[in-house]
Amino acid sequence: MEIDYKSLGLRVGLEVHQQLSTKSKLFCGCPAELAPENAVYREVIRNLWLGKSELGELDPAAAYEVARGRRIVYRAPEGYVCLVELDEEPPHDINKEALATALSIARALNAKPVDEIYVMRKIVVDGSNTCGFQRTAIIALGGYVEDEEGTVGIQTIALEEDAARKVDEGPGFVVYNLDRLGIPLIEVSTAPDIRTPEQALRVAYRIGLIMRLSGKVRRGIGTIRQDLNISIEKGARTEVKGVDKLELIPKVVAYEVMRQLSLLGIKDELHRRGLRPEDVPDSFVDVTEVLKDCESRVVRSGVEKGMRVYALPLPGFRGILGTEVCPGRRFGTELADYARAWGGVSGIIHSDELPAYGISERDLDSIYERLGLVKLKDAFILIVSDRERAERAFSAVVDRLRYAFVGVPRETRAANPDGTTRYLRPQPGTARMYPETDIRPIRVDSSLLEEVERIKIPKPEEVLRVLVEEHGLSRDLAAQLIREPVLDLYLDLVDDLRGVTSPQIIATTILIHMKSLKREGLSVERVRYVDLAGILRAVGRGEIAKEAVPEVIKAVASGSSLEEALKPFRTLSVEEVERIVESIIESNIETIRARGPERSLGFVMGRVMSVVRGRADGAMVNAIVRKKLLSLFREQG
Ligand SMILES: [Zn+2]
Repeated sequence: MEIDYKSLGLRVGLEVHQQLSTKSKLFCGCPAELAPENAVYREVIRNLWLGKSELGELDPAAAYEVARGRRIVYRAPEGYVCLVELDEEPPHDINKEALATALSIARALNAKPVDEIYVMRKIVVDGSNTCGFQRTAIIALGGYVEDEEGTVGIQTIALEEDAARKVDEGPGFVVYNLDRLGIPLIEVSTAPDIRTPEQALRVAYRIGLIMRLSGKVRRGIGTIRQDLNISIEKGARTEVKGVDKLELIPKVVAYEVMRQLSLLGIKDELHRRGLRPEDVPDSFVDVTEVLKDCESRVVRSGVEKGMRVYALPLPGFRGILGTEVCPGRRFGTELADYARAWGGVSGIIHSDELPAYGISERDLDSIYERLGLVKLKDAFILIVSDRERAERAFSAVVDRLRYAFVGVPRETRAANPDGTTRYLRPQPGTARMYPETDIRPIRVDSSLLEEVERIKIPKPEEVLRVLVEEHGLSRDLAAQLIREPVLDLYLDLVDDLRGVTSPQIIATTILIHMKSLKREGLSVERVRYVDLAGILRAVGRGEIAKEAVPEVIKAVASGSSLEEALKPFRTLSVEEVERIVESIIESNIETIRARGPERSLGFVMGRVMSVVRGRADGAMVNAIVRKKLLSLFREQG
């Protein structure tokens, strides 16, 4: 189905977060890098307490985390974390290298630096910051990115500290590694000027590319993250957090539009049926007895552990919960997210998906009967849990169901690997920023601006010149590299394979082979960077022929290890070919003696070539066979 995004009033804004590769962290002298697993770790346990903001308001996102009542465990690797990260010591002066780098990126994005930088505290309540807030400072305003579908404004550019990284999580606890806390991040926020999913991709790519060209950013998985805010005219502004792959962006946008349209469809349907929010009841019913002989594993194992089965009757709702909101996700899935997030239950079962999961048609009839509902028009939701969790879960589900009459709720969602999203938490209120009193304001003076001047970020035209003149690419190939979202991949590979593999082979592989494989339906995105680099390294070292590259990529994309994938294509050394020739001569020695040197040549060549099959040059094999045959007959005299 073709969607006309412009007529739906699609508006998308991007927040691009990129780690900077400075020597130290933003507010202390610890290295700005992640600790290895075998570092020496200490553990610190904290509990989270909720205070009101300076203005006396309670932040909805904060209330949410406290309601979940989790214990927070921090792992502090020695040498990567000091008292600043543990919030036992005030922050040091802001890292000047990070500040100059961020300002140079701001300049390349046409933004104006502020006169004075104020570090602010932004409340963060999921425990990922030991002090309960993240330090952030706006360093530049304004700016824009050019795009073929229209210029996209940049609202703010901020320098901030990265949060601790979550390494484990379970019922009632969460574990963070503190190594990432304090690594400098630049955050570029665009205006909601983006109008199509493809434009979102191009703009995110362009911003990332400018950062990359500064030469001062960290590379690899997790070093760049995109958040999106997406809305359509009749829907609501949804924040989607943590899109860490560029190519997912258009999918995330398209699926979110689909989701908002479906939720609006559900709203219309509820009104058409004459239902009202108060038709969603406040109370739920214990149906454990009704299901005591049921085959369902979830029900059985739950009941064995002392849990109960609770049902929320939903008169008039039949078909609503099973409505698909985006590929693979139904309205019931959205409700399950709420139940999990607020109640800590493992999920919900709803009548639109039954009979299934061992709940039979007869069980279904019994539940309907027990709830006094009619199968043809009513629905219900089951939760297997203790009473307390069920209460919290149903309360969230009931609120969400009542909101279905209003439309699309404003919420913060997380991206799934397939581009769909799931509920994460309510959107934070406006009462979450206040000044950091431990750090004095920083004047953006001429000496700082001079330092910024020294960091040169090349313009795309200059990059084109380097690709043609220094890398030796054709103008066409170079222009294509800049146009498509692959230049950063290309530059990474050229850096890592310097002196081994020619830029020409790297560019051809990315632009021609990868693309045509993708067209053939191969999931080239499954090829990891290290494997792609490994394949190109093997070409550069002459271990495989460059003609073998597409086949090797195919094998890796279908799950082979790099070694397995390379093996059938490895070119043979002269010594290896010699050994093969010798063994073939030896095992056919009678025939060869009978035929004589001239008439044996073709015979031996044929045998050898069928063994080496494309892994050795024909002329080389021919020379070796000749040499071996000659010496054989010479020995014989
Ligand atoms: Zn530190």
